[in-house]
Order: sequence, then C-alpha cells, then structure tokens
Amino acid sequence: MTVAKKAAVRGVARAARPRPAAEGTLRPARIADDLLAWYARARRDLPWRRSRDPYRVWVSEIMLQQTQVERVRHYFSRFLDRFPTVESLAAAPEHDVLRLWEGLGYYRRARQLHAAARMIVTEHAGRFPQDVAGLRGLPGVGRYTAAAIASIALGLPEPIVEANSRRVIARLAGHAAPLDGPGGDEPIWAIAATLVPTRDAGRFNQALMDLGALVCLPDRPLCGSCPLAADCAARRTGRTAEIPARSARRAATRLRETAVVIGRAGRVLVVRRGPGEWWEGLWDFPRVPSTARGAARAIAADAALGPLACAVPRRLATLRHSVTHHRIELDVVACAAARPGRAARGRRWIGIAALQRLAMTAPGRRIARLLGKRRQRG
Ligand code: SF4
Repeated sequence: MTVAKKAAVRGVARAARPRPAAEGTLRPARIADDLLAWYARARRDLPWRRSRDPYRVWVSEIMLQQTQVERVRHYFSRFLDRFPTVESLAAAPEHDVLRLWEGLGYYRRARQLHAAARMIVTEHAGRFPQDVAGLRGLPGVGRYTAAAIASIALGLPEPIVEANSRRVIARLAGHAAPLDGPGGDEPIWAIAATLVPTRDAGRFNQALMDLGALVCLPDRPLCGSCPLAADCAARRTGRTAEIPARSARRAATRLRETAVVIGRAGRVLVVRRGPGEWWEGLWDFPRVPSTARGAARAIAADAALGPLACAVPRRLATLRHSVTHHRIELDVVACAAARPGRAARGRRWIGIAALQRLAMTAPGRRIARLLGKRRQRG
C-alpha cells in the first residue's frame, strides 16, 4: 500500500493550514504512522495517561509546566487521591491546595488551578469547555495547555509545542532559526499544525513529547534508534548539534538574605507571603536583606519585626536555594522577642510542631525541620 493510501485509510487527512517553507520535505502521513507505531511499543507509562478524563489531563499538564516528569508522578497521585474530581478541588480551601503543592514550586499554578476549578463548577456546571477557545478562558490555561487537553482528552486535532516536541519538530524540519524571543516558536507551531493527524491527535502529540524525552535528546540525540530518522532534515544534513539554536543563558543573580526565627514562649513568628512576592500565599520566616554591616543591624533596623531581646542573633544555619534565576544564600538566625508582637493579618505565632500543618515556602520548610530536630535533641 502506498503512503498516500495508508494515510487515507488511517484518516490522517489534514485541514487546510498554512504550510511553512521548511515543511516542503516532510511527509506528515508517514511521520504519523512511524511515530504512532513507535509509541505503541515505547511509550512512557505515566499515571495521568491511564485515563482521558479532562480533569486528570488538565491537572497533569499544569503540574508538568516547568517541572520534570519524575517529580510530578508522586505529586499527581497524591493530588488525585485528595481531590479526585473538579468539584472536590473547587470546594477545598486554597490553603489545602497550596499545602499539597508544597515542594512542587511555581505556586501560581496551584492558585490558578484552584480558581479554574471553581470557574468550571460555577460557570460551566462542572463540565470542561469543549474547545481550545473555551479552555483558554480558564485561569492558567495557555496555548499549549489548551491544545494538550483538547487533543488528549477531547480528541481534537490540535497541535502542541512544548520543550520536547519543539526540539523534535525543529530537527525534523531543519528549522535552524532561533526559537527564543517573541514569535520565535511560531514557525514550529505552523509545522506542528501540518503534522498533527485528524485522528489519534492526542496519542500523536504524546508520542512527539516522548520521542523528545527518550530519543531526540537535547545533546547527543539517539538517531540510530529514531523511528523518524529517514524523515529528519537535521540528521540528513549533519546539523543535530546546531538545531534548535541555543540562546545565551541568563546569568544567575546572587542574593544574600537573613531569615529570622523569632521565638517567644515556645512559639515562633511566621509571615505569609503577600501578593506579588515569591511564594505568594505560603508561610515563611521573616526575612531581611543581609547588608554589608551584618544581619544584626539589618534586623534591628527592620521595625516590622518588632522589639527583639537579643543584641546579637544566634546563628543557626546557612541554606542555599534558587528561585527562577536567583541563587540565594540564606543565613538563618534566631532571636527572642522582647514582648509579643501585635496580632496582624499575615502574621502568626505558632508552635514548632504545628508548622507541619502550614503550607510553607521550600526554605521555610527546611528551617521548620531544622527547628523540629533541634527541639527533639533538646
Ligand atoms: Fe531527533 Fe535524530 Fe530522530 Fe532527527 S533522527 S528526530 S535528530 S533523534
């Protein structure tokens, strides 16, 4: 059977879409056939793939943004155990959602997931929108996520472009132009639209992602094991190392801060991160910038911390952590409060054992564990 006949039998006819110049050498029907055959035997077994339920697909796609698959596995199963339906997620307090998200990072995703669940329940009677435009109306659902839900859960022939599929498509098409910057991805979206089959679009998209994750690796792609090797322009022209073009990495910004464990009568002071701050909505220990003059003076100069009883704070530890492109060295010091601070919104005095119940920032959690261990040791 010819490739064209095979395509007709499998229903891989495509809607009329703009055809980029680079696509001239691609054979979409053959690529779909070869990729789907490979996917049937080599696909990754991932917990969110065991059902096409839009809720499960959506939660997994939000978790997978900026986060590696292996890390998401555990969080996904735990999240689905606690919130098995969109209704249960919508009914939960935001704090419970953040507590379950703790450690996954990029907490804005969790807040938007929660807000979108409430929108689905209140405005869509608990049913997911049935097309890309409707899906994009949900908080936190952008072009990629909407297309992923539409193709995987709803079976619509929507293309997707994310880190793995972008690399595969750029190499297949020999697209050597830089992809970063405004509009840089547009040619890849256009090529993806010509490749996605009308039937099996969800499996095709997941196969592209798996091929990028398992075979078409960023460095040293395994072209000898690739089902699309015969169709790959980058391989044919010996340019797999050059495609996709790499952008200069943004240099890390180094910061030094001091976290202050302020204690009084067996309790410690924690503050809730406010709007626009990193970790918005999560609890942390108060922080001051470490100045050249030293943490003690910085703390003394911060009126918000209230009157403290120690002239020189006791040093507990130094932690290192990263937020986006910031590398932060965090000195942790302890100090007693001279008198209880006034209760205020976003501040709490809390026993060390009870910190376990709070949704905390990653470094805040590390400090809480440190305090727990010190308390056990007496
Ligand atoms: Fe990637 Fe090599 Fe396959 Fe081309 S042949 S898609 S570079 S793994």
